Amino acid sequence: MNDVPSRQAALRESAAALQPELVALRRALHQEPEIGLELPLTQAKVLAALEGLPLEITLGEKLSSVTAVLRGALPGPVVLLRGDMDALPVQETSGLPYASTVPGVMHACGHDLHTAGLVGAARLLCERREGLAGSVVFMFQPGEEGAGGARIMVHEGVLDAGGSRPVAAYALHVAASVLPNGWVATRPGPIMAAADVLTVTMRGRGGHGSTPHLALDPVPAACEAVTALQTMVTRRFDAFDPVVVTVGSFHAGTTDNVIPDDAVFAATVRSFSPEARDRVLAEAPRLVRGIGEAHGLTVDAVVTEGYPVTVNDPAETAYATAAAGQLLGAERSIDMPRPVAGSEDFALIGAQVPSAYLLLGACPPDRDPLTAPYNHSPEAAFDDAVLGDAAALLAELALGRLTGRTAEQLSG
Ligand SMILES: [Zn+2]
Repeated sequence: MNDVPSRQAALRESAAALQPELVALRRALHQEPEIGLELPLTQAKVLAALEGLPLEITLGEKLSSVTAVLRGALPGPVVLLRGDMDALPVQETSGLPYASTVPGVMHACGHDLHTAGLVGAARLLCERREGLAGSVVFMFQPGEEGAGGARIMVHEGVLDAGGSRPVAAYALHVAASVLPNGWVATRPGPIMAAADVLTVTMRGRGGHGSTPHLALDPVPAACEAVTALQTMVTRRFDAFDPVVVTVGSFHAGTTDNVIPDDAVFAATVRSFSPEARDRVLAEAPRLVRGIGEAHGLTVDAVVTEGYPVTVNDPAETAYATAAAGQLLGAERSIDMPRPVAGSEDFALIGAQVPSAYLLLGACPPDRDPLTAPYNHSPEAAFDDAVLGDAAALLAELALGRLTGRTAEQLSG
């Protein structure tokens, strides 16, 4: 029996009917953006939108998250759907009628669409509770933009909210450019980079610039270390599993004829596989320490871990790609050739639950996806006409997964 096409047609129809409500919610969120872990106005809007649905709701303690659990009428496994809700410290210049009313704060990464899309998925799945075999956890997450909201939600139990570990987790991210409107793109394996920070202090002994032999000059050694990091990148790492090390800040000294006591520099370190990340975070500090110590300096080389690599589970990604193609049209579901160099804390969910993270094109129809301002730009704009599809796709991913259909079954 194959009831997938009729289920999907009904989902598309219900989602289209929800569209005006989701657009209104998204624009209300867009007008009152909030940053970081505490998003009280956003949380209140989400709770109001979920009001009356058969959901078990838990609020975060250390952040204003909303975890909503839908228990299907039939027993079965747990699936998690995630939407992030935070904005960025950006002054909006989009000129849209519903632009941010908060100075210096903007939903420049489209998380307002993620929030509204996840509310839509909750509504669609609640309507289908009678046929649902298992539970769905809706993870409304603050603090994706660097604040580590996912880590706190995992700590506060989001992965156990459904009663057992989710068998799968899915997230959608809208793109203001690059992808054509309405297209869904993903790839198995690494999809978003890890972003970590290396901070180095080399300490010597200051003195007169005319007599360096009486001092211990940290500047040449620090310069040597900066160059050596680039040599390390090309000599120690596979060209097809690359790392990027950019020393973006370098400070030493005050004037030309004084040797300073120390030199300080900091680098962003990007990697695209957990293996390369582990290795670069071990080798880079070792290298700069070795160089400084060879010159008689003392060296502090500190790694501050950011988000790890977001890795898509191959089976879940094949399933999600097939589901998106069936629901929205095969021509709209594509494989990405490469990961994206940005980072994402859905990585922390993907590290514990087989996951698929998908991008959804939301470039407004009056812009060219090849030239439109990208996410995080003050001019970025996202077409909320994609909200119905976003909600339907998230709902379909959960529905299909809870009926145990694999990618082969879907395409067969
Ligand atoms: Zn984002």
